[in-house]
Amino acid sequence: MLDVSPIRAFADNYLWLIRGLTAGNRAVVVDPGDARPVLAALDAASLSLDAILVTHHHADHVGGVAELADRTGAEVIAPAGEPVPHATRRVHGGDTVRLERLGLQFRVIDVPGHTAGHVAYYGHGALFAGDTLFSGGCGRLFEGSPAQMLASLDALAALPPETLLYCAHEYTAANLRFALAVDPANATATDYAAKVAELRQGDEPTLPSSIGLERMINPFLRVREPAVQAAAAAHAGRVPHDAVATFTVVRSWKDTFR
Ligand code: ZN
Ligand code: FE
Repeated sequence: MLDVSPIRAFADNYLWLIRGLTAGNRAVVVDPGDARPVLAALDAASLSLDAILVTHHHADHVGGVAELADRTGAEVIAPAGEPVPHATRRVHGGDTVRLERLGLQFRVIDVPGHTAGHVAYYGHGALFAGDTLFSGGCGRLFEGSPAQMLASLDALAALPPETLLYCAHEYTAANLRFALAVDPANATATDYAAKVAELRQGDEPTLPSSIGLERMINPFLRVREPAVQAAAAAHAGRVPHDAVATFTVVRSWKDTFR
């Protein structure tokens, strides 16, 4: 099993630190929006940084890349379709990122929607999803269409149910308030919301989640469920004609939900 730990940054970002399997003193960081907490974590655990994985170009995901690359010499692996400065390796969906010295490999999955060239990294039973799939929610559509985002989410939902989901933000509690507004009879979501409230009360991360759990509680993975379709119809005042239409209603509903 992969050794993954959260580094907190900004209000609610997680920069995920992954230790090498074959070299426990070497590590990878995903989406370092800030260099300082990463350097502190490396220092505290006597780790050297071999690689940086970037999911998309937003500042809270790449703000620390230049300084970390400078200071550590780590290679910077970034999606080919995103404007990420200092990238040393550009990846496309379907590529496999092999980090030989660490015994790690990740498959690159194209997940456009939040941004046009967003990718996710999947390997060793773990999914690093950036701002595409959150626990209980999904990213906002800044550069993509609802159809693109739904296809991206469907691709992630098709991974094995035991896959651990590491997303880039602690949004779970707010997402679940919305999930329960859409799907109030969802007992799994109700139970999960109670567990999440307890974790947050103790200032604990709610992540990782799992693909299996998300398929049961995340309204954006459930747009083909009658309960979610009915809620979307009631919200929009008309029956959505397909899954993309349901997704579109639920996504824009979430944008204004308080
Ligand atoms: Zn983002
Ligand atoms: Fe973000």
